[in-house]
Amino acid sequence: MDLKDLYRDVILDHNKRPRNFGRLAPPAQSARGHNPLCGDQLTVYAALRNDVLDDVRFEGTGCAISVASASLMTEAVIGKTTAEAEALFASVHELLTKSDAPAPAALGKLAALSGVREFPVRVKCASLCWHTLRAALAAAPTPVSTE
Ligand code: ZN
Repeated sequence: MDLKDLYRDVILDHNKRPRNFGRLAPPAQSARGHNPLCGDQLTVYAALRNDVLDDVRFEGTGCAISVASASLMTEAVIGKTTAEAEALFASVHELLTKSDAPAPAALGKLAALSGVREFPVRVKCASLCWHTLRAALAAAPTPVSTE
C-alpha cells in the first residue's frame, strides 16, 4: 500500500466515522463556519480548561474532505493548549498550500490531508474546521465579574 492509498483510507474512514461528532453545551465556546464554494457547514465546539482544549467537537454537513478534516482536527487538538493548536493550524495550512513541503512528523494523521493540495479548490474544505475552531476560541464569553 503506498502513501496515497493510506492517506485516502484515513480520509474515507474519518468521513464515514467522524470522531468527536456532536455538540458541547455552554460554557463551551462555539462558532459556525461556512464554505460557500462547496456548501460545507460546520459548528465547532471547544471546552477550555485553563488554556487547554479539554474537549472539542463538531457537527455539520459537508463533503468528505471537510468532515474528515474536522474529525482529524478534533483528535489532534484535544489536550493541547490554544497556542499548540494554533501552531498545528499553521503547520496544516502550510501542508495544504505549499506544493511539495514534506509533512512534518508532528502532524501525525493530519498528514493525510496533504493529498488535498493537488486540488486547490478543496483547500478551503480542509481548512474550514480550523478557521472555525479559531473563531470559537476567539469567541470568549464575557468574563464573569463578582464586582
Ligand atoms: Zn467541501
